[in-house]
Amino acid sequence: MRQPLVAGNWKMNGSRESIKALLDGIKAGIGAVNKAEVAVCAPYVYLADVQQQLNGSNVSWGAQNLSTEASGAFTGEISADMIKDFSCKYVIVGHSERRSLYGETDEIVAHKFEVARNAGLVPILCVGELLEEREKGITEEVVNRQLDAVINRVGIAALADGVIAYEPVWAIGTGKTATPDQAQETHAAIRQKLASMDAGVAEKVQILYGGSMNAGNAAELIGMADIDGGLIGGASLKSDDFLTIGKAAG
Ligand code: PEP
Repeated sequence: MRQPLVAGNWKMNGSRESIKALLDGIKAGIGAVNKAEVAVCAPYVYLADVQQQLNGSNVSWGAQNLSTEASGAFTGEISADMIKDFSCKYVIVGHSERRSLYGETDEIVAHKFEVARNAGLVPILCVGELLEEREKGITEEVVNRQLDAVINRVGIAALADGVIAYEPVWAIGTGKTATPDQAQETHAAIRQKLASMDAGVAEKVQILYGGSMNAGNAAELIGMADIDGGLIGGASLKSDDFLTIGKAAG
């Protein structure tokens, strides 16, 4: 049985002060989340604060990106080992904003997945189609291409060490959520694809939904058979909303 996971992606939001208040709120209410694991993915510069505040709590934490490189002359980059230094469990790879704004190709994303996994981090691999790709009816093709890049690099078995987040790009930060049926259709297709290569991996891998999930729609989405939780942007910045999503996941 897969444990639900509700992970917050704070993106480039917050301050030391606001993050302290947010984490205080999450810690105060986390006892009411029974089944789901709750995690927050913070901006790098706040990881030390997050580690200090969440150490010993039931909340996990992680980063939002990492370098493909281990160390050296890569100004502004952050390596997997640096992220590990702050006891992060998770790192997001291939978020659509990294793909579209920073030119991350499927191959770069696959490389990041590999580097994260080799460092003992759990990569949260984001996949998802643009609006025009959905309208053309090529959602599955796009998601398969994004997954294949990773599978070709690390092998199917390695996928079991990560988490997949299906995030239709048209639903991210737009307030437009995929319907539970739309999301389930793609989640089921992802799981079937994995199952055709390795049934054990397909059974184990958590597939999160991301894209305007909020306190009002989470229960219905996470209630679908192949939706194992959520990757939450905007609603993860308010502790009450975020915890409501955590509770909706069990
Ligand atoms: C995200 O950034 O991964 C995301 C799903 O954002 P939002 O929840 O704000 O749509």
